[in-house]
Amino acid sequence: MIFGGKLRNKIFLTMALVSIVPIFIAAFLSLYSIDTSHRADVANLEGALISQKYAEIKNFLDGITGMLQLRFEFEEDKDVLDLAAKKSLLKLLLKENQPLEEVAFVNLEGQETVRFNRFNMEGVPKEELRNQSQSEKFLVAKSGRDYTGPVHYTLKGPIMPVASPSRNKNGVVVTVITGEVNLRNIQKIIETSKLGESGYLYLFDHDGFLIGGGGNFKSEAVLSSLKDIGVARAVLRGSDFLGAEGQQRYRNFFGDMVIAAAKFMPEYKWGLVAEWPTKEADAVVRDLLYKNLIVSFSVVVAVILISILLATLIVRPVRKLEDGTELVAKGKFDQPVIIKTGDELEELGAAFNRMMAGLKQLQELKDEFVFIAAHELRTPVAAMKGYLSLILDGIAGPITEKTKDFIQKVVKANQRLIQLVNDLLEVSRSEAGRLTIKVAPVDIVEPIKTVLQELRPLADEKSIKMSYEPPPGLPRVLADADRVKEIMVNLVGNAIKYTLGASEVLVSHDIQGGYLLTYVKDGGIGISKEAQKRLFEKFYRVPDEKIKGITGTGLGLFIVKELVLKMNGKVGVSSEEGKGSIFAFSLPIAQ
Ligand code: ADP
Repeated sequence: MIFGGKLRNKIFLTMALVSIVPIFIAAFLSLYSIDTSHRADVANLEGALISQKYAEIKNFLDGITGMLQLRFEFEEDKDVLDLAAKKSLLKLLLKENQPLEEVAFVNLEGQETVRFNRFNMEGVPKEELRNQSQSEKFLVAKSGRDYTGPVHYTLKGPIMPVASPSRNKNGVVVTVITGEVNLRNIQKIIETSKLGESGYLYLFDHDGFLIGGGGNFKSEAVLSSLKDIGVARAVLRGSDFLGAEGQQRYRNFFGDMVIAAAKFMPEYKWGLVAEWPTKEADAVVRDLLYKNLIVSFSVVVAVILISILLATLIVRPVRKLEDGTELVAKGKFDQPVIIKTGDELEELGAAFNRMMAGLKQLQELKDEFVFIAAHELRTPVAAMKGYLSLILDGIAGPITEKTKDFIQKVVKANQRLIQLVNDLLEVSRSEAGRLTIKVAPVDIVEPIKTVLQELRPLADEKSIKMSYEPPPGLPRVLADADRVKEIMVNLVGNAIKYTLGASEVLVSHDIQGGYLLTYVKDGGIGISKEAQKRLFEKFYRVPDEKIKGITGTGLGLFIVKELVLKMNGKVGVSSEEGKGSIFAFSLPIAQ
């Protein structure tokens, strides 16, 4: 995770999961229902357009065939009209029906009796009249039904043959009128039909040839049959593609993706197809999809941000408590944890502070006890020291060598006791903030020399050479000369104590960034890396077999650290096991 903390991650992930998953499910469901209803809408629009245009085409053609169905007033069962009457009838028909290119009377034997066309409004010459007795249109019309035939294509436009029966007063077929209808009107109906901006219709005959169409079908000459194109083929076999169920999606004749509906027109065996490029038809859905995505995405981002914020808010007090426990572990009880959440966490923080106050009280009691005990011990051990030296000096009377030997052992033990009591007092003072340090510019060389002199007998005992050659003109430091002595007693004392064979203890100096450094180097037993980290802790002694016989309290280095810190310096150690150690402390140089 970008932000640390396992608890925070857990809270964040849980919140995110609980809120983001439903958001996505809701978004998906709404998109799904929008898409479904959109499909139905498109299908309905296309279906409605197809039905409407279908009706218009049928009306147009029924109108024409209706015109050709004449009803005569006579009762004879044969055609008794004279030529002049027929001619004027045909002339009128042509005049009234612009789409009609040609009309003819055909008698019941199938012979044209008179024929008019738009080039010959007076009727074609007799020798051009045709015998239609075998033609389907004549036979169908003679049997009493209207006939519409296959379309053929001319420069004037698509032409369709038609024929209708004409009847006498009793409804008996007495003659047939055939004609040729120009389908340009149908072309217009189809061409002008639109779905939105880019959707169009097209109409083809039963061989798959285009009668008329909008969109690209209007502007580009489509001379090949559409029969082999999926939808057209299926439609010509009688299938309809209507409603959401029948909706088709495919690449159209020109390669654009379209949504289509289609209907077969059984009367004429034509196919009527509506196609709507998805680019426009789906634009609404796409728009909704984008909007939906943007909204979902923003909500998700907001949820993530809020989750992070909430997780942080929840985790922050926990962190504060954690920091508090760390302070307690370090023995610092005076920094209460501040949590203001107004809930159980705040109560926990208050409880923690109460615990801390209790611990502080306990620590103070302990410190006081140690201080009083050590303080009270000081007088008796000092008295013992005095009387023991009187005995040894023979003031209390002569003593045997053996008694002297024993008394000397008691003196040593008493010396250790004095050291312990002094150390404890020092620690108590330091912890109670009662360590008195009077800082002033001092020359550090003299106190160090004094300490080395004092400790020389101990070093000589172990044949340890001590050298200290301070360079001339060493700057004075801001320190308390007595405390410097105390520090040096501890460090040089340790250097001698923890050196087993004959070796050398070297004291030297260095200047670094406004500080005077003092090094105490020995060739003693050294300290492991692990132990070095804890060396300056109270009562810490390295758990090493080698120092089993060396007495000590584990307080010396702690006191050294406290003293150096109080004088605004630092302590450090570098050591290698078996080779020796270098202890160093710095003190600010006096200006
Ligand atoms: P102690 O009274 O035990 O000497 P200190 O605080 O002075 O207490 O030292 C703590 C521990 O550090 C010692 O017990 C010892 O194990 C280790 N130590 C201190 N100085 C040295 C040194 N110069 N060489 C090796 N070990 C040392």
